[in-house]
Amino acid sequence: MPGSFRIATIAGIDIHINLSWIIILLLLTVSLATGLFPRSFPGFTSSTYFLLGLVSALLLFVSVLLHELAHSFVARARGLPVKNITLFIFGGVSNIEREPRSAGADFQVAIVGPLASLLISGICYALWALLTRGADNPIAAILLYLAAANLLLGLFNLIPGYPLDGGRILRAIVWKFTGNINRATNIAAAIGQVVAISFIIWGIFLFFSGNSFGGIWIAFIGWFMLGASQAARTQSTFEDTFHNITVQEVMSHNVILIPANISLQRLIDEYILPQGLRSALITQGEQFAGLITLSDIRHIPREQWATTPVGFVMKPVSQLHVVAPGQNLRDVITLINDRDINQLPVVENGRLLGILSRDAVLRALEVRRRLGIKQETEQDQHQPTSS
Ligand SMILES: [Zn+2]
Repeated sequence: MPGSFRIATIAGIDIHINLSWIIILLLLTVSLATGLFPRSFPGFTSSTYFLLGLVSALLLFVSVLLHELAHSFVARARGLPVKNITLFIFGGVSNIEREPRSAGADFQVAIVGPLASLLISGICYALWALLTRGADNPIAAILLYLAAANLLLGLFNLIPGYPLDGGRILRAIVWKFTGNINRATNIAAAIGQVVAISFIIWGIFLFFSGNSFGGIWIAFIGWFMLGASQAARTQSTFEDTFHNITVQEVMSHNVILIPANISLQRLIDEYILPQGLRSALITQGEQFAGLITLSDIRHIPREQWATTPVGFVMKPVSQLHVVAPGQNLRDVITLINDRDINQLPVVENGRLLGILSRDAVLRALEVRRRLGIKQETEQDQHQPTSS
């Protein structure tokens, strides 16, 4: 997520905070310090209320983090690598790098988050009842607030619309019964869209009935959910269309290979300028050696262009992402999207066979979509292949 920075690493998982989270921390502190706490626990100074608000907001952040850690730990125990956890304006998100292999694992990863929140709520409530015996003191206020907030967090996340945990739980159940993860994602995401639109309408309604802050807030959550559920639908349609297409069916064979021993000047005069190339593929004998881009060339002083071999300046193949011709397009798309790559060399046994561009992938999707070509997906085909 752009605008995020790392604050800690817990059990090998990086914890990131998005700048938008700081806004919500401040808003929550102010709203607790001027609203809920003075109303429910009167008789303290305003600085006490602010301290209470800040401590409660930070502890709520710890609660959200525990919710995400629960998802992440279960995901890792099921063999799914976790990139990081990011806390942002609408809560937290665990960046799990792969889809689960089975509906059972999907279900476990999804449900453990709300369970963690409900457990925290129960513990806070029990502590409140046992330690403070209902007394009106600051600790009682914080514990009761955390019990209520975590209860809401757990229940809210159980709403069965993707991207909420409830939507993932629903997806796991549909996946179990249909054996088709993409169909399951589509159904959960469609319900997610309905939930999201309901939130937006509810938010607008609240806004016009006087609760402008709450209204805007709820509408924003709905708007965020709508984006995420639409993205999930697009993604699953994408995967449904692509799951048994290989790289070689879409790649371009039309590549210009340039020997590594020519000078930069020759590369520019004979290849780059006449053909309007923005990058060039370099070979050493029969073997694919690397890739050179305009910015690589720009870093070399002009007077050295005539004497510097291309091979000295190119990015060697060891530093490039390459794909194999038989690789599944679905896995390659993940690579293209995650690393924001425009073209990938297709290499087999060290030899360059072609180039796979983002445009070609999108065109292939568009053509298949228009022809209505879709394949039935079977559960076993969703085991991630190495990429
Ligand atoms: Zn969750």
